[in-house]
Amino acid sequence: MKWQGARRGGNIEDRRGMKGGKKLALGGIGGIIVLIIGLMMGGDPNQILNQLQEGTLNASTDTEYVSTPEEEKLFEFTDVVVRSTEDVWQAIFRKGGLEYPIPTTIIYQEGTQTAGCGYGESHFGPFYCPADQKIYLDLSFNKELAEKYGAKGEFALAYVIAHEVGHHVQNVLGTLKETNEMRKRLSEKEYNKISVMTELQADFYAGVWAHNLKKYSDIELTYQDIIDGMRAAAAVGDDHLQKQAYGKVNPESFTHGTSEQRVYWFKKGYETGDINLGNTFNDPTLR
Ligand SMILES: [Zn+2]
Repeated sequence: MKWQGARRGGNIEDRRGMKGGKKLALGGIGGIIVLIIGLMMGGDPNQILNQLQEGTLNASTDTEYVSTPEEEKLFEFTDVVVRSTEDVWQAIFRKGGLEYPIPTTIIYQEGTQTAGCGYGESHFGPFYCPADQKIYLDLSFNKELAEKYGAKGEFALAYVIAHEVGHHVQNVLGTLKETNEMRKRLSEKEYNKISVMTELQADFYAGVWAHNLKKYSDIELTYQDIIDGMRAAAAVGDDHLQKQAYGKVNPESFTHGTSEQRVYWFKKGYETGDINLGNTFNDPTLR
């Protein structure tokens, strides 16, 4: 992946200096639609929602964050990737006569308050909050990707960011509103299927982004990057994660799709670059 010197200036809010401080109890968040979409929630989303509701509000104290050269490089990389998602999606939306509202990417450490999705914590993994249109990312996840999930290579983190941006695209296009409505009237088991379709479409959009980098950004991808991207998609498949965590697999509880499905949709997006071909909701194999 050739990204050094590529365009920066992505819409990033650096909250790395905002940690520690007094923790305040946060009451119920009744009335607010909570819908956090992470790359992998590994297990029960309801449990995470409960955690959020019982979450704590961090009365943070701002200190200037001093990063190591390694962290600085990762931050720069993130900025380049975020900027490229803006350039690509702006171009795609414009072609369709639409305006793309650029999301904010929050870089934080350990925990941070969201506006509408409760208190976000690193162990959720990277996530998108539809209510505030922000992507939340703790850069230490990059290490976790390689060490815990075996998703190596620079492109792995780029895929993760592009996946979260994919959720933003779904939000802007009204897809998340529809799936959220469905959540209210479906059983958990039925809704899990909708969740899988939603996640696979975000993988597809990540592929569409990768396809369009050549045209709309100055990042250069290699064949190896796409291999790394597919490996990362496979690494965060529900079947793989469950096998890793529990030694067995329960397909009914899948919320993100199997490794094979995630690779398939990422690859389809990458090969076609056409957002019209990403209707995972119409795929009979996912029903
Ligand atoms: Zn996701």
